[in-house]
This record gives sequence, C-alpha cells and structure tokens, in this order.
Amino acid sequence: MRKIAIIGAGASGLMAACFASSHARVIIFEKQKMPGRKILATGNGRCNISNRNLDASRFYGKNPDFVNNVFGAFGLDKTEPFFSSIGIPFAEGKDGRLFPASFQASAVQKMLSFEAQKRGAEIMLHRRIDTIVPKKKALVLITAGREYHHFDSVILAAGSCAYPQLGGSDAGYALAASLGHTIAPLIPAIVPLNATPKALHRLEGIKWDCTLIARYQHTTIASSTGEVLFTKYGLSGPATLEISTAVNRAIIAGKEVEIFIDFFPALTPDELSAHFQTLFAETSKPLALCLAGIIKERIAEIVLPLAGKDPFAFAGSLRTEEIPGLVKIFKHLRVIPGKPRPFSDAMVASGGVYTDEINPSTMESRIVQGLFITGELLDITGTSGGYNLQFAWSTGAIAGMNV
Ligand SMILES: Cc1cc2nc3c(=O)[nH]c(=O)nc-3n(C[C@H](O)[C@H](O)[C@H](O)COP(=O)(O)OP(=O)(O)OC[C@H]3O[C@@H](n4cnc5c(N)ncnc54)[C@H](O)[C@@H]3O)c2cc1C
Repeated sequence: MRKIAIIGAGASGLMAACFASSHARVIIFEKQKMPGRKILATGNGRCNISNRNLDASRFYGKNPDFVNNVFGAFGLDKTEPFFSSIGIPFAEGKDGRLFPASFQASAVQKMLSFEAQKRGAEIMLHRRIDTIVPKKKALVLITAGREYHHFDSVILAAGSCAYPQLGGSDAGYALAASLGHTIAPLIPAIVPLNATPKALHRLEGIKWDCTLIARYQHTTIASSTGEVLFTKYGLSGPATLEISTAVNRAIIAGKEVEIFIDFFPALTPDELSAHFQTLFAETSKPLALCLAGIIKERIAEIVLPLAGKDPFAFAGSLRTEEIPGLVKIFKHLRVIPGKPRPFSDAMVASGGVYTDEINPSTMESRIVQGLFITGELLDITGTSGGYNLQFAWSTGAIAGMNV
C-alpha cells in the first residue's frame, strides 16, 4: 500500500485524510497539541462551514476561476452529503451561510478528527515538519526533532500565516517555496481596518448597522451592509470584515482607497432630510439629543462636529439650508483606511502558492511530482461567509482522492 503524509491536521488536512485512507496508509503530522485547532474558533465557535452561494466572485487571487474547477470536482453538492454521512447535517443562516446543525465548531473538529482516524489515518501530534526533500521515488520529511520519514506522496495542508495564536505560520509557504513554488504576496484579510478621522475612534465599543462602500477612483471595489463595530483604531464588525480583503489588497497595490459610511442605510437622503426637519423643529433641544431617537446619541455627538456643528448647540441655531450638509455627513461619511492590521487580527491570509502551479483536478503540484497542496496555503481567498472552509474541504477532498 502506498504511504502518504499529510502536513497539517487542519480543515483541509483532515478532509484529505478521510478521502486518502481508503487507498493509502496515511500519516498526518501536526505541530500543535491537537488536530483542527483553528476549526474550533471558526464562526465565533459556531463554524460557518460553507455557503449556498458558491461562485468565483466570492474569491480573490491571481486566478479566482481556479475555484470553478475545484467546486466542479468537489462542491457543496458533495460536501454536504459527506458531512451528513459523518453525523453533521447543515443548518442555514443569513445570506446562504451554512453551519453544523448543532452550531458547534467543536463538533466539526472532533467528528472530523474521529472520522479520519476511524478510516485508518494516524495523527502524530507535536510533529513540525521543517524540510521536504524530494528523492527519486519518494519525498522525505524531516521533523523539527530530526526524525526522517519516507513517503510516496505528500499533501501539504499547513494553512496560512493568519492568526498565529491558533498555529498560523509561514511554515507552509517556506516548504512550498523550498520546492520551487512561487508565493503571491501575503496580505491580512477578513480583518478589522485602521481608519481615520481620529474623531471616530471615540466611538470605541459602539455597534451600528451601516452600509460601507469602499471606492478607488470613484469605482466601488467592495460594499457591505450590516453591523459595524467602531474601535479605538477604526472599524470592525461583520460589514467591515466583508470589505476588508478588497480594501487591503488595493492598499498594498498602492491604491488610495476611500470608505463611505452610511449610518442610515434604510432611508433615502430625502427621507432622512424630512426626519431631520421634524426632529430639529424642537428648537430648545441640543442637536445630538434631537437625533437620539433615531441613532445612538454618542454617534450623533461624534458625527455632527465632522459637519462643523456643535452637538450641544440648540436646534434653534440650525439654519434650514444646513440640513443637506448634515444629511450628507450621516449618509456619506468619508473615512480613509490605513495600513493593514497585523496577521494576528486577520482570520485569513490573502496570497499564497500560485494556482497556475497546481492542477485543479487533483491538487498536485505541476513542479514536484507527488506533492499536493491544499487549503488556505493557496493563492485563493474567500470573503467572509463560509467560503474559506469550503475551499479547504474541497481542495482537501480532491487531494485525498487523487493522491
Ligand atoms: C478566528 C477564525 C475564524 C474563522 N472562521 C471561519 C468561518 O466561520 N468560516 C470559514 O469559512 N472560514 C473561517 N476561518 C478561516 C478558516 O479557518 C481557514 O481558512 C481554514 O481553517 C484553512 O484550512 P487549512 O487546512 O488550509 O489550514 P488550517 O485549518 O489552518 O490547518 C493547518 C494546520 O497545519 C498545521 N501546521 C502548520 N505548519 C505545520 C508544519 N510545518 N508541520 C506540521 N503541522 C503544521 C497547523 O498547526 C494547522 O493545524 C476562520 C479563521 C479564523 C482564524
């Protein structure tokens, strides 16, 4: 029987093990003390396992169409029955997001690890692979403890450098590069954003449903409506995470990106103007207090000065012709995103091994025979919503079947 090694017992490595164990002897090397540690943290502990709306437009990379081949070979149509067959049926949430029906990431981590071992894979913990040496008919893995292991094929499923707190590191890129692979620049993705004006930092801790539109030279590069969490350095929360990959990729490419915040996404400018006229008719009330019934008062206190208005001045001091300026600041507040935040804040890393060096039907390297590369290590990054895990499941399964 062929002997196969998998480097990394994460999402794609465990999936690969489940599919490879039917035709090979499989050993997984995992540097951490347990398999699937990142899976445990996914979806805030609920594991956003996939999404009904899988298509290339949800992914970034030099060649996002690579995902069409991958999902053609092993898409949601095969992922859902696989998880169901191991006791994890899916439940659907907002925007096509899928979760295990128990909404417990720990169930996915435990049941997938159990399944891989039940099918015959051996998981060796505390084993970091530092070197891969291609020999004539084998690949030799060398661990940090200088153990040498010979294999017919190797699946490199070592994940990205995002979230080092849960084991993210550069190791996978270094191993791939040492064998001749090219690595697209790595950029923190699905990550909060540094942003100015600084006045907004005083909203730290406040959450509000907004629309965020990121633009470069008047063209929209990403937008999202949902909860924004204001922080001491800028913006976080689901709507921010959603646009963050496009924003950071543009910033790293040297583009000057602007983000516009709409604090009243459900109202047109005319509707908001009509509201303002009614609310400001109470001339003896401070301006911010006039708005306290339609937006958090603290937001009004911080945003009104950005339009040159004292939030504690009486509404009577406001002239009718000033209302369009206030509508504009609440519907179209311009903020400037700064340098990307570190990988320790990022859920995923954009960039990685170029996909034109990988056969999408098998996940085998076009450079080293017998080497397969899966998951987030590849230059494919999904937006938030379950897309990254689905890519890990699919690439893992394909590699496992074809190794
Ligand atoms: C906080 C957080 C929340 C997330 N939530 C979601 C979500 O809800 N939905 C979603 O789709 N995606 C989510 N993601 C992203 C998702 O977890 C990853 O895209 C996915 O786990 C990638 O799978 P992978 O197999 O490529 O890598 P990983 O799952 O990271 O696995 C790689 C494994 O390789 C091991 N390893 C690395 N180097 C070596 C080495 N040299 N030797 C031995 N072992 C090694 C690591 O310890 C790790 O266990 C989240 C990420 C984070 C950090």
